[in-house]
Amino acid sequence: MQVNDEPWVPVNDLARGARAEAATLQRVMSRVVDSGWFVLGPEGKRFEAELGEYLGVEHVVGVASGTDALELALRAVMPADRSVVLTVANAGGYATTAALRAGFQVRYIDVCEESHLLDAALLEEALSPEVGVVVVTHLYGRAADLAPVLAACRQVGVAVVEDCAQSIGAVRDGVMAGSSADAAAFSFYPTKNLGALGDGGAVATSDPATAERVRRLRQYGWTEKYTVGLPGGCNSRLDELQAAVLTSRLTSLDKSNERRREIVNHYRERASRRVRVLLAPDRGHVAHLGVLVTDHRSELVEHLHAARIHTDVHYPVPDHHQPAWRENEPGLLPVTERLATQVLSVPVFPELTNDEIERVGAALECF
Ligand SMILES: *Cc1c(COP(=O)(O)O)cnc(C)c1O
Repeated sequence: MQVNDEPWVPVNDLARGARAEAATLQRVMSRVVDSGWFVLGPEGKRFEAELGEYLGVEHVVGVASGTDALELALRAVMPADRSVVLTVANAGGYATTAALRAGFQVRYIDVCEESHLLDAALLEEALSPEVGVVVVTHLYGRAADLAPVLAACRQVGVAVVEDCAQSIGAVRDGVMAGSSADAAAFSFYPTKNLGALGDGGAVATSDPATAERVRRLRQYGWTEKYTVGLPGGCNSRLDELQAAVLTSRLTSLDKSNERRREIVNHYRERASRRVRVLLAPDRGHVAHLGVLVTDHRSELVEHLHAARIHTDVHYPVPDHHQPAWRENEPGLLPVTERLATQVLSVPVFPELTNDEIERVGAALECF
């Protein structure tokens, strides 16, 4: 048997981007070191302003992670007399973690077969009177159609939070992801399309009262220094080093999103009929992940591994089947449950070489 000694194609390799940008990153970090200001200073303010302008929202509040952004956004917009968060169960569990930390209950709604996003047709029935917030996750980088969700929710006084951790820069029908609901949560975890050199997150909103609540919650609930005026606060701040890195990287976001789309669309063109590659046709999708759907997952994993291509599954365990949460909401979500057995992620990140992309394409072609 012939031994394949080609290097593996990784699902991600953060060193490549960091190495290519090393001089810029060092300059940016020196600026912060020289300034002597490390938390809630001018770099954070500048990043908040520039991201706000990019998104077309009035206020951006930097926090310590995407999960914190979800938690603080939920706390800030949950109507006073309600305590249930409604969301999807196929998006990695972050919204559930955030809601449970905030002391809310979670209920789930199934997703669309084609888009893997919240099925708005099921909303009306799911919006019982205890539901106070719906979290819409723009999964894998695909912006959901928010119009029907906003219409259904506004009618019954339910707030909407967008989870944009995977979708920064996606524009659907002229609407930027994160700009049209009550609040939106972003993550700058290093693998995200806009990644920091560590953890980071942000809440975006055009409602000044929501922004003010999140600003207070991220700093112990202080309404002024050492005065806790708001319950439920914590310490969740975006530090100056991360903010400076993010301001620098924001300038190339659209370009790297375009490269991601190119890669996904190449796979889509090449893939055999036993594999469906979720399409990233236009700016409505920022191709955070390259996700395939197949009835032959273990066979495909074996095939790709033989070609030395790494794979991952986003996500193998739906929230309502997570061992720690199971008693929380054992609902029946047929589409979510089936897709969890069919999805497979292949390498998609901007620094993949053309040769690596060709290897993945060729392997998908001959499956
Ligand atoms: C990564 C991610 C989060 C959480 O972000 P962290 O910064 O890792 O806390 C939330 N939602 C989705 C969909 C994500 O992919």
